[in-house]
Amino acid sequence: YFLPIRDFSSDYHATLNGKNSMGAISKILAIEEEKVEQQDLPTWSSESYLKINALDFGYKNEPTLSEVSLKVKGYQKIGIIGLSGAGKSTLINLLSGFLKPQAGQISVNGIEISSFSQHDWQKQIIYIPQNPYIFRATLRDNITFYQPDATTEQVHEAIRVVGLEQLVSELTQGIDTVIGEGSRSLSGGQAQRIALARAFLDKKRKILLFDEPTAHLDIETEVELKERMLPLMEDHLVFFATHRLHWMQEMDQIVVMEHGRIAEQGTLKDLKQHNGSFIRLSSSVGRL
Ligand code: ADP
Ligand code: MG
Repeated sequence: YFLPIRDFSSDYHATLNGKNSMGAISKILAIEEEKVEQQDLPTWSSESYLKINALDFGYKNEPTLSEVSLKVKGYQKIGIIGLSGAGKSTLINLLSGFLKPQAGQISVNGIEISSFSQHDWQKQIIYIPQNPYIFRATLRDNITFYQPDATTEQVHEAIRVVGLEQLVSELTQGIDTVIGEGSRSLSGGQAQRIALARAFLDKKRKILLFDEPTAHLDIETEVELKERMLPLMEDHLVFFATHRLHWMQEMDQIVVMEHGRIAEQGTLKDLKQHNGSFIRLSSSVGRL
């Protein structure tokens, strides 16, 4: 009974975002129904560019993001750093098309993403939220979420890459054991590894939205996984939100967020030379 749900949800991968998923699905469906003239979305490539222009967003009356503007292109890696509450997750959610800005635009190759079908946009994205949603389904089905035709060998390879062999060895039916809500409970770290395994298995999607994808892992495990994650990020546009500074060494562009605004942006070298928000952040959370 799970297969149709999986087909459905792989199209609407906003469902990965856990507790708000049903609301999100119905909202997306509503949007799909009132579909107006829509443009074709080109597949993201090394020539593509994305522009965020003066985004404002608030969950209620208070502004959460104000005047956020940013230009990225091709296969850049963009680090989004800032203290808790700065607005990193909100920005990632806006990029996913899951939240809509109250003002401002996000455009791809000069065309607003709202002119594309939400479905086409989200089909190009792998989104790993901080607390990934694990379906009540087999580990295999959870991992092959973006790539339903993956072979058993590929699933095992992804499991090895993210270091989930221990979990598999404990499962009575291996990768075909049902996990997720109401069944075997998983730790936050295991859920994040499953989400990363989904990403590793995918061969088509070129945009990665990572929201603290390693936040539930201890630092040793994170460093080990980091080495395996870096190749995955090659040839992708990556937005990587984190409060862990060491990731910034891997990023082409860094965006420092403070109270819903971009306080500073540039390369790591630029930011280290400029005595601003990044330097303040580094000295408050630890040296880079
Ligand atoms: P970060 O990811 O940098 O920690 P967030 O984007 O999660 O920051 O949050 C930015 C601000 O928006 C915070 O003040 C947070 O409390 C608020 N916020 C986040 N999500 C919601 C929500 N679903 N409803 C209301 N306020 C929210
Ligand atoms: Mg966050």
